[in-house]
Amino acid sequence: ALEVHDVHKWYGTHRVLDGIDLTVRPGEVTVILGPSGSGKSTLLRVVNHLEKPEIGHVSVGGELIGVKRHGGRLRELSERAILAQRSRIGFVFQNFNLFPHLTVLDNVAAAPVATGRLSRPAARELARELLERVGLGDRTGAYPRQLSGGQQQRVAIARALALRPGIILFDEPTSALDPELVGEVLAVIKDLATSGTTLVIVTHEIGFAREVADRVVFIDAGRIVEQGPPAQVLDNPRHERTRDFLGKVL
Ligand code: ATP
Ligand code: MG
Repeated sequence: ALEVHDVHKWYGTHRVLDGIDLTVRPGEVTVILGPSGSGKSTLLRVVNHLEKPEIGHVSVGGELIGVKRHGGRLRELSERAILAQRSRIGFVFQNFNLFPHLTVLDNVAAAPVATGRLSRPAARELARELLERVGLGDRTGAYPRQLSGGQQQRVAIARALALRPGIILFDEPTSALDPELVGEVLAVIKDLATSGTTLVIVTHEIGFAREVADRVVFIDAGRIVEQGPPAQVLDNPRHERTRDFLGKVL
């Protein structure tokens, strides 16, 4: 499980996360919704310790992320230990972030080799399988710039899968795509969702949320305003702010 416990985050005097508590059980798909600037990306970045919370902590599978307990206090882990933890948490960004100078195959095979988990041949074999799974088995030799945005994002998903993460975080994975390419990426994410991968997805795709989410979490101004099954939060929101937001994105 992912547990976010009472997380507070400030940028200077600006409070961005204001006491977030969130539990995501293994195999669960959580969709996070909220207006621009509400802290969604910051929350994902806190989960893999790209941002450090001033108060609170995060654990995955019972293990604290980025810190360890030391005489009742939390102390920052070594950079190396943090990188090891991060490699067990998949992260898919809005803008793909592929390595431009590597082929599709090597983009996917790179991390398992760099982290010493697989030999190069084994990593390439795994990469081939994963690219097959996201529908790109025939593009392994291409470079990112030769692919459409939707294809690049599917490579990014295969790359995240290559480290066999216990959980994958998606930050608006389709918002940089042309509308006609959104569906192919959502289909891949849906395949992961139905195969029991633990997912946390920030997205404005309400129809997709209704279809795949076990739970929808609505965030505003750094707080969870409400959460629950999609039928509750999306179709019967309890809070004015949620209704307001849904009225704008639907
Ligand atoms: P969007 O839907 O536009 O992606 P978001 O919900 O992901 O928004 P965040 O990116 O988490 O929002 O940002 C939350 C707030 O924190 C915003 O007001 C933003 O300007 C501010 N912020 C984010 N990153 C930084 C930073 N590195 N330094 C200062 N302020 C930041
Ligand atoms: Mg964001």
